[in-house]
Amino acid sequence: MKRVLIAEDNDSNYLLMTYILKNRYEFDRARNGQEVVDMVESYAPDLIIMDLKMPVINGIEVSRRIRKNHPDIPIIILTASAFESDREEAESIGCNEFLTKPVSGQKCLEIINRLI
Ligand SMILES: [Mg+2]
Repeated sequence: MKRVLIAEDNDSNYLLMTYILKNRYEFDRARNGQEVVDMVESYAPDLIIMDLKMPVINGIEVSRRIRKNHPDIPIIILTASAFESDREEAESIGCNEFLTKPVSGQKCLEIINRLI
């Protein structure tokens, strides 16, 4: 089973993701940006779902660091903020998708299935 890393500091948002992924993918959780960086270095997940606003290091900066060593891991940015500047920055770093919360489970799953 492919492994998805869920980078999410908010418990209810994380729980929602687990419902979408359950029985389809294995998943792990990182609660802050530093954890994401460390976990990606210890095992390369098949896909990352990345919250933008996280403690320690934000999702944009985390994505930038990951892209240095892992240009091919799909990254889906999932955010409550819909700032166009965030979207443009995510694109320029090489994030694969930029989704605004709340996102439908079906849509999210379609995108994961396509990218993984
Ligand atoms: Mg957050």
